[in-house]
Parts: sequence; structure tokens; C-alpha cells
Amino acid sequence: MLPERFLERLARIVPSDRFDAVVATFGPPRRIGFRLNPLRTVPGETLAALRAAGLDPQPVDWYAEAFTLDASERAALMATDAYATGAVYLQNLSSMVPPLALAAETDDQVLDLAAAPGSKTTQLAALLGSDADIAAVEVVRDRFFRLRANLDAAGASFVKTFLQDGTKVPRYRPEHFDRVLLDAPCSTEGRFRADEPETFAYWSERKIREMQRRQIALLAAAVDSLAVGGTLVYATCSFAPEENEMVLDRTLTRFGDALHLEPLPLDVPAAQPPLGGWNDEPFAHDLSHARRLLPDGTYEAFFVARLHKTESTVDDTPRRPGRTSRTRRR
Ligand code: SAM
Repeated sequence: MLPERFLERLARIVPSDRFDAVVATFGPPRRIGFRLNPLRTVPGETLAALRAAGLDPQPVDWYAEAFTLDASERAALMATDAYATGAVYLQNLSSMVPPLALAAETDDQVLDLAAAPGSKTTQLAALLGSDADIAAVEVVRDRFFRLRANLDAAGASFVKTFLQDGTKVPRYRPEHFDRVLLDAPCSTEGRFRADEPETFAYWSERKIREMQRRQIALLAAAVDSLAVGGTLVYATCSFAPEENEMVLDRTLTRFGDALHLEPLPLDVPAAQPPLGGWNDEPFAHDLSHARRLLPDGTYEAFFVARLHKTESTVDDTPRRPGRTSRTRRR
């Protein structure tokens, strides 16, 4: 049984006419998502091989390489050569949105600031190709090695990986990257399964507040790592406004005119506008360009926002003794 307090909060977060349908998604998924990986084989050939194996992949109209299958076909997909060779990457459709929202180009310097296990890093690599300049940062050692293994399996060994605390990146690379993806550590509410109590065993409002602190620090690092003129995408798989709209709201206040929310450059059917406030407090900023992806058995819950940086946020005066960072103190 999901925590009662979680469900009470959820009733205040999702539209009332969608509440029962959203709660039903904490049961088994109806459909699974996957990507054809052009770093391994020509997507058309992989698709033909999957169909020859008796599978029935359905296309996704906002992403040519993405497909869905009935969840009952998962084991059969994982038994194919295409899966074994990394030509197919299993990934929920919602998780594919942040890398697309980043809309990076081949000659961009790209940073994935919280990268393991690498679903989005491998997707960025697949989108940009082997000439891309992609750096991926992960702070947890065993997750870092999982990231490395997944990159190798996906033919994306060209991605540069760093076992490091992402909040430190601006010390070494202030305002360096053209595109920064922050798929932030979160309370993972969107991944809760009613029949798997371990998925929500550690959930609490205190945990949400703790994640918010980490998210705010990582998002500030993402902003300071981003070049002026660059684009940043912030994402979580949580429903909690404290981890989503509130993190954005505080970040926009902190960075003032340097940062602007932009519409996502793609239309996703599950996308809904963000909340305008929480606990009877309106947010200080207009967050209407951000998007909540509502789960429906195919899409998982996600929050995605795209930010554009128009002014410097770091102090370029020489480092003084005793100062640990070039980042401006606010
Ligand atoms: N983007 C990943 C993907 O699509 O596969 C999922 C990222 S997961 C939501 C967040 C990741 O951030 C976790 O692997 C976590 O260990 C890592 N993390 C947490 N704090 C971090 C920090 N300070 N610096 C870098 N990574 C961090």
C-alpha cells in the first residue's frame, strides 16, 4: 500500500479528473519504451529484425527512434540479439524527453551533470554521434561504473566520464558548456510500485526537503557551468512540487535576469502545465513553460524545464586565498 500522506499530496498535485488514472499507474506498466541505437546498427535494420522475431513495436510520433511494446513482450525483447548487442536501449518514453528538450547540436560541448546509469547520456550520444563532445558526471562510485558499462554497451565509449561531485564542476569549468542536462537525484516518486514496497520504503516529506537542497545546489552548479547563451534542462521523476516548481522558482530568484524559462521544443502527449503554487503559496515566477508529464501506463511521471542563460553568473576576478570557488557568492 502506498503511503497515505503521499496519496493525499498527490490528490493536490494532479488534476482531480486524472487522480484515479494516475494512481492506477503505480500498478504494473502497460507498455514499455525503447530506443533504436544508431551507434550500433542502422535503426531500420534493427526494427526489421525485431519484427522478424515476432515483436510488434509501435512508433512514437515525436521521436523517430523511439517505440513501445506491450509490457508482456519485455522478456522477448530482452532475448533478442538487438538487445544483447546494444542496438536496442530500454527506456521509458518520459525519460527520453529531457535529452530531446536540450536540442544539442553536434559541435556543442555538452554536460550531463547527474548521469548514471546513463539512459540519457547514451541517448545524447546516439542523438549527436561519435564526434560529439559529451562529459558525464556521477558521484556514486558503483553507479559510475554502471554508467561506464552502459556507455560501452551502447557504443558510446567516446563520452568522457568523471567520478565527481557535480556541485564542484564550475570550479574547473566555469561557463564552459553550451548545453547542460541535470536529471537530478530525487525522491523517485514516479517510479513507485504499489506491489514493491522497497520502492517507497524511504519516502517522507523530510526526504523530499533533503532532495530539494541537493537539487538546488546541483542546479546552481549547472547554471554556473553553462556558457552565456547556453541551454540547460532540469528534470526529475518526482511529483513533489518542492523538487520541481519550487527548485526552479528559487533558482530563478537566485540568478535574476541571467536565466529565463523557455518552452520545450517538442510536443509530448503526456505533458501538462506546472502548478502555479503549493500549500496556498503562489510561486514568485511564471513557470508556465515547464512541463509535468503525467503517467498513464506508457509514460512515467516526469518534470522537465528548459532554461536559457543570457548573462554571466560567475565572478571572473582572480581567485583569492581562502576562496574555494570562482563562483559568485549570493
Ligand atoms: N540521468 C540518469 C539516467 O537517465 O540514467 C539518471 C540520473 S539519477 C535521477 C540521478 C543521479 O545523480 C544518480 O545516479 C545519483 O547518484 C547522482 N548524483 C547525486 N548527487 C550527485 C552529485 N552531487 N553529483 C553528481 N551526481 C550526483
